[in-house]
Amino acid sequence: MTKTAQAHKDRMDAIHANAQAIVATGKCPTCGSGLRRNNSMTGWWQCEQYGAEGFRARPNAPSCSWQDFTEWGRNRVPLHTPWDAAIVAAFGTRSAGGRFPRL
Ligand SMILES: [Zn+2]
Repeated sequence: MTKTAQAHKDRMDAIHANAQAIVATGKCPTCGSGLRRNNSMTGWWQCEQYGAEGFRARPNAPSCSWQDFTEWGRNRVPLHTPWDAAIVAAFGTRSAGGRFPRL
């Protein structure tokens, strides 16, 4: 493994460890709501208030944008990164106006 690849893996491991710690609490770090797994990709967790009204646990409560990955998403669609897949799944397009960080 090259130095760059190792650095990337270390960074991903840190991101995943952080996400695992959050998921273990069962609470969204942003708004305190519960969490739920998005089964369209491995390791994908979202705030239960994520997304459009019909998709949220409590449609009348505010939406929340928290989501994270607890492991390398094994893409079920041929996209470059978990974030690409997340963006496409949420918005139907890969260009979500820079709302998500690129890894
Ligand atoms: Zn939340």
